[in-house]
Amino acid sequence: MKRIFFIALLLFLLSGCTENPVITEETNLPAEVEDELEEAPNLPENKDKEDLDEQDPVAAIDMSLNPNELGEIMILMYHGVGEEESTWQRTPENFRKDLEYMYQNGYRMIRLSDYAKGEIYTEAGYTPIILTFDDGRQNNFNYIEVNGETVIDPDCAVGILEEFKNKYPDFNVTATFFLGTNPFGQEEYAAQKLNWLIENGYDIGNHTYSHNKMEYLTSEEIQFEIGSVNNMLGEYIPNYTVETLALPHGSNPKDEYLEWVLEGEYEGNKYNTIAVLDVGWRPAYSPFDILTNFNSLYRVTASEIDVDNCGMYDYFKQYEENKRERFISDGNPDVVTIPKRHEEYLNMEIVENKIVNIYEEKELK
Ligand SMILES: [Zn+2]
Repeated sequence: MKRIFFIALLLFLLSGCTENPVITEETNLPAEVEDELEEAPNLPENKDKEDLDEQDPVAAIDMSLNPNELGEIMILMYHGVGEEESTWQRTPENFRKDLEYMYQNGYRMIRLSDYAKGEIYTEAGYTPIILTFDDGRQNNFNYIEVNGETVIDPDCAVGILEEFKNKYPDFNVTATFFLGTNPFGQEEYAAQKLNWLIENGYDIGNHTYSHNKMEYLTSEEIQFEIGSVNNMLGEYIPNYTVETLALPHGSNPKDEYLEWVLEGEYEGNKYNTIAVLDVGWRPAYSPFDILTNFNSLYRVTASEIDVDNCGMYDYFKQYEENKRERFISDGNPDVVTIPKRHEEYLNMEIVENKIVNIYEEKELK
């Protein structure tokens, strides 16, 4: 009986499938399988599958969820959340609709900085999604007075995000706010807001001092544009490192000046940029994909107006119709699971010492 258990267990592990193997005492095994099993190491009697999974992270992955860690990830580009709907602004009602759609359709938020480092902690079977807000408008983070108390406006972006954080704790609500001068208006609350964001799991990125097009700037001007904002933010949030940049107007610097975007110094303070974001166009590739350029990351415009079939819902629809492939997490940040047909796109510089788990799909539809 013990032997039958081992056979079942071994076949289960060898098959890599997640359904229970149908093996009974009546099973006739081919002679060569019997021979192999004779040589199989003896497993401790009390080993059950869970114990083995702890030792072998690849065996622990639920392959029935079709993990695909070379699929696309959307970096959504929001601007305002306010009364009037436009390309650059969602109404509170529409922003709630977006979040509800994402949650109900298997999207879970991740931090931009984790994406840039290839650290994907998304639960197995779900698709990471990244929210960004440009320009630091007051309606991104607004304080209001209610009965003599200062509270977060429930209809500003942060207010709505907090609403969903409470409603769906496993949504992993977070976002990056790209700021220039005068973050979120209400100057008297600037320090309070910035510190509140950091303490509550949000991120701050750089959107430059003048919002000028980077393509026309010299190395000195680039360092002023990024460095001065960095220094200002550093005064409010001294223990936080700003390391992401959204390019104003999506304008990339001249090639020879890119190095000053990535690393520079202004008034004695250095900065480093690990992710540079373009304006909305299309979903980003997986961080493990050789096609990903962290110095010019694609974003998707979070709008339904004037987006030329490139808005967030156009892409959501394409994923629903299986016209594009979205990233599906294997649930283990230390394992990168990909279908074999994408193997040539795997960027080992980002994968580093993670375990690569390549599998053959049974059939393609
Ligand atoms: Zn902007």
